[in-house]
Amino acid sequence: MSRPAQATINLQALRDNLAFVRQLSSSKVVGVIKANAYGHGALTIARVLESERIDCLAVACIEEALELRHNGIQSPILLLEGFYSADELPLIEQYQLTTVIQHQDQIGMLLAYPTKEPLSIWLKLDSGMHRIGFLPKDYPKAYQALIQSGKVKDTVFMTHFSCADDLNNDYTRRQLSTFRRITAGLEGETSLCNSPGVLGWPEAHGNWVRPGLMLYGASPFDVNHPHARQLKPVMELSSSIIAIRDLPAGVPVGYSGTFITNRTTRAGVVAIGYADGYPRHTPSGAPVVINGKRARIMGKISMDMMTVDLTDLPDVKTGDKVILWGAELPAAEVAQHAGTIPYELFCNMKRVNIRYID
Ligand code: PLP
Repeated sequence: MSRPAQATINLQALRDNLAFVRQLSSSKVVGVIKANAYGHGALTIARVLESERIDCLAVACIEEALELRHNGIQSPILLLEGFYSADELPLIEQYQLTTVIQHQDQIGMLLAYPTKEPLSIWLKLDSGMHRIGFLPKDYPKAYQALIQSGKVKDTVFMTHFSCADDLNNDYTRRQLSTFRRITAGLEGETSLCNSPGVLGWPEAHGNWVRPGLMLYGASPFDVNHPHARQLKPVMELSSSIIAIRDLPAGVPVGYSGTFITNRTTRAGVVAIGYADGYPRHTPSGAPVVINGKRARIMGKISMDMMTVDLTDLPDVKTGDKVILWGAELPAAEVAQHAGTIPYELFCNMKRVNIRYID
């Protein structure tokens, strides 16, 4: 019998979320599966998306792309950060990868490299996020240099939104208008939207959308947003109760004694902790779900365990399943309690057994 901490990945929910993307947008879809598909297992997720005829997959870097190619993934693959050194260019050619070009150094390396065939590239405009990409003043020059080199066969003009998850923030509109102004008259397709863009900014969809989080069924918005409620969580993180004891009122629970029982308390210990990726800073009072009912965390999260209050759930017994997040408890809600975002919850998950269901 292995440790009960487990992530169950529902592949039909993934398909349904992709269908929802396609319902919202007629653009071609890049499925973002970097960082091991946000903890869901890049290869399995890639296989499902490929069987659903995804237009392209996106990863952060060449190592992630090669893992897919070496395991038979044939879909176009986009490197979202591009390449870091000229050594990668032969591999990009050999494995038919598409690279983002986001920095002048990459143009220098590409121009110096004797390409066999012209490459497909995505040229990144920094329309206001101020992380990577060419600033508006430098973008047309970068594009001209690439075109004149003859090393590029087609270009997708791309940018990335910094505030698209805030539907009341006008900054996304400003980024969109900068993008339109700078790319007007240039020959190529366009791509701007991550999940919040797909869900909340239809005017920005362009030729390609690039959803990640929403494919995994988590909402970049408040959990009550109408679109958020249509997403189907793909991952359920669960474990089980491994001990139950009655504690008197007035005793501390867990490291540093930050939680003091205020009544006779039925305390249940769950076999999951921060070494599994459950955020250590989640405060007392954050929810878990047991047998369809909510229970509250008491005290600090330990490395391998947490304690929950079962006083109002007298029927719960050792061995019962505890859901940390999933369809019955949105990851976005847990993230809110923990002062983080669902992206980080998924990516940090480790050590737990992963089980796929279809
Ligand atoms: N596009 C780019 C350039 C990204 O870096 C990411 C993720 O960080 C995405 C798309 C996918 O974003 P999301 O998971 O919000 O859909």
